[in-house]
Amino acid sequence: MSASEAVTDTLRELHGRFAGVREGQPADYIPELARAVSDDFGLALVSMDGHAYGAGAADTPFTLQSVSKPFVYALALTALGLDEVTRWVGAEPSGEAFNAISLEHGTGRPANAMVNAGAIVTTALVPDTREAPAFQSILTCLSRFAGRKLDVDEGVYGSEAATGDRNRALAYLIRSTGALPVDPVAAVDTYFRQCAVRVTALDLAVMAATLAHGGVNPVTGERVVSPEVAAQVLAVMATCGMYDSSGDWLLRVGLPAKSGVSGGLIAAGPARFGLAAYSPLLDAAGTSVRGHAALAALSERFGLHLMRNPALPGSTVTLVTTADVLPSAPSGPHSRALRERVGVVAAQGALDFTAAERVLHALDESGGEPPGPVVLDLREVTGADSVALSLLHAGLSRLARDGRSAAVVDPGDRLGPPDLVRERTGQDLPRFGSVEEAAEHCAQTLAGPG
Ligand code: GLU
Repeated sequence: MSASEAVTDTLRELHGRFAGVREGQPADYIPELARAVSDDFGLALVSMDGHAYGAGAADTPFTLQSVSKPFVYALALTALGLDEVTRWVGAEPSGEAFNAISLEHGTGRPANAMVNAGAIVTTALVPDTREAPAFQSILTCLSRFAGRKLDVDEGVYGSEAATGDRNRALAYLIRSTGALPVDPVAAVDTYFRQCAVRVTALDLAVMAATLAHGGVNPVTGERVVSPEVAAQVLAVMATCGMYDSSGDWLLRVGLPAKSGVSGGLIAAGPARFGLAAYSPLLDAAGTSVRGHAALAALSERFGLHLMRNPALPGSTVTLVTTADVLPSAPSGPHSRALRERVGVVAAQGALDFTAAERVLHALDESGGEPPGPVVLDLREVTGADSVALSLLHAGLSRLARDGRSAAVVDPGDRLGPPDLVRERTGQDLPRFGSVEEAAEHCAQTLAGPG
């Protein structure tokens, strides 16, 4: 891969921009969390096609904490349906801290499933039988979201179990109003275990991407929850996922999100991307300081604000092949061997960041062994926004740096006027009227001057 490294470059750039931020403190009310390495900082992004990108400590393990809440909510919704779940836990932003006693007047029902009170109830709703103990179902569900088998950090679990009296008190209080369907001690114990499940930023990005992808894990292809449940979870994340700063987050960043006190943070761009950050230094609301800054910048950079541009282009890449299979290809063995190495990629429709990433990925996939030059056919492209253009320019220049030249079929100047393309990509991108001419040019380049 090289052209799509332009996406990684953006993550690296944002990582570099915020790595120096030293504000905030690791959570210490769970003693084991205070031992986190303050410098750790990872960013990850997973596309709807399952392409994963990471920067910094994207593979460093940490515990889910509150980031578990939306996924266990998804499990409860799957088991019981929205109406039954809503009888026990609401869907209104509490405007209060994560550990607040935010219970509805009169019923004792917690405000939503993203604050501790609501999450404990959600966990208590997960069916618990001898054949299928609740925690096993939770761990299996979290693992399917992540696309790999997750495990529990016993040290963090033990640390919270030893000190988590506030959550136990909350559970007893909820039961005293009749709004907790099971034993408070058991519910809180299962909740502590789910909070101690170990993940990496890359795992979190896959989990967020699964919600963004309508409940199908884009990496494994497995359907984890229904599209309805995925949408319900994203809706509650959008209004309640960032505790008492949920409104401000939706206003400025515009993505459903969930933060946790270990420093994990996810955001989901529906039908676009799963994003995740990890950095244990937290602000007063319990959200990762660097994570918040980096995901906000990422949303801004890639134009992901939900209210700004909710449209997903249909299929973007219509052809990824090699020049030897073009109908017009001459059949001589010499020419065939050269053409087998020449990639051909055709794109269509309106190109935004989502679509441009697909094109870059297709460029990487195209061509034979070793991959030669590539023909990019943009005749069916109807337009490209500025984000897509800069990503395409950056990708083409990376491709050239890796020794793969490109030729374009771009009668509508979708990549921009030749001068701009030269300036942005550092090369004169040869332009042709047809794919055949471009392919012939590329094969000739491989044949060399003689
Ligand atoms: N296990 C933590 C607690 O219940 C999770 C809180 C959080 O991440 O916000 O206190």
